[in-house]
Amino acid sequence: MSQNTITIKLPLYRPTLVKQDMYRTMRSHFSQASNQALQYLQEVPVRKATELDRLLRSIPLPSTLLQEARKLAVSRYQDWRKHANTKGFPSFRANISILFDNQNWRLRFDQGHLKIGIPTIEGHLTIDKYVPASVNDYALFWVNYLLTGEMDPNSKHYKPSYKGISKPKKGNAQLFEHKGKWYFAFTLSFQLQESPKTNKAIGVDRGLRLIAVAADADTGRYLTFNGKRIGHIRRRYARLRREIQQAKNMKALKRLEHKERRMMQYWNHVMAKNIVQFARASGASIIKLEDLSRIRSMKKYWKRADRNIHAWAFYDLERKITYKAALAELTVEKVNPYKTSQECSQCGIIRKNHRRKDQFQCSCGYHDNADINAAFVISRRPSLVI
Ligand SMILES: [Zn+2]
Repeated sequence: MSQNTITIKLPLYRPTLVKQDMYRTMRSHFSQASNQALQYLQEVPVRKATELDRLLRSIPLPSTLLQEARKLAVSRYQDWRKHANTKGFPSFRANISILFDNQNWRLRFDQGHLKIGIPTIEGHLTIDKYVPASVNDYALFWVNYLLTGEMDPNSKHYKPSYKGISKPKKGNAQLFEHKGKWYFAFTLSFQLQESPKTNKAIGVDRGLRLIAVAADADTGRYLTFNGKRIGHIRRRYARLRREIQQAKNMKALKRLEHKERRMMQYWNHVMAKNIVQFARASGASIIKLEDLSRIRSMKKYWKRADRNIHAWAFYDLERKITYKAALAELTVEKVNPYKTSQECSQCGIIRKNHRRKDQFQCSCGYHDNADINAAFVISRRPSLVI
């Protein structure tokens, strides 16, 4: 089990001027209470908590907040005592954050709007108020978990390691003003089961006919991205590029490359997303890719003018897979690309004549699409230490 604590910051939703004035009054009283408690401690360092609370009682704040001010002062005072030789006596600034302990605040939904319940003051009266807060996707994910104890596994903020998550524990909170805006921030802690790290890997082969194949050798399942549609567009680009290159119009060439890159970035994003989903669905924790820096032979497939953009597209896909894999708590590892297309994924024999165009045929009887076979081979290769 590992202990985790996160902080969620909610902007207050359009607090009225009257409310803002009240928060400022509370803040100034909170600062005053904290500073007074510090002074009491300076005079008589061994005061009891109850005595300090009694001394602070004349300050118009809810008693729970006076207790927070006292706790804050005690901890600052003790900290000062340890470093008294080097530090001046502490004091709290006027625009301090107002602190709430975990029993002192709550959240609820009111007709679809998130509201924060905190003790406030009206004159000398203490009133619990619910104030509306703004909530983004990320905060909503955690707020729902706090309120229901459950997580939405379809949220983009969900991670596989949350599967065995404990019930959430409310932590302390604070209300503060930053650059003219008011925020309520709270902590939330939970325990995660140390995930039993499987060493299961899927392999990803990047080719030309099938732009990418992800394959799970354990189950024989695979996911292919056909390059036909992309290939068609790219051939058009390649033709245009050669024309422009002959005309030596460098500006136009740059523009064309820029356009082609944007298109490839989009496709790569879609492929990377699906590959990571495939890995997760397969229960894999590792995505294996060929170490492209070792590939030389690839170049012979590409005409000179197209090399840059092809190489760029391959690396871009790799970057996107790596980035999205990290978000899903998967690792990307590299394998030696040596003859991955000539090795049989079933019997392990490497032979040059295994491959006929896009078909792979082995003497052991196994036959498959060549890129799919290569992806199986990649998934079983030992990872390189980089
Ligand atoms: Zn074979």
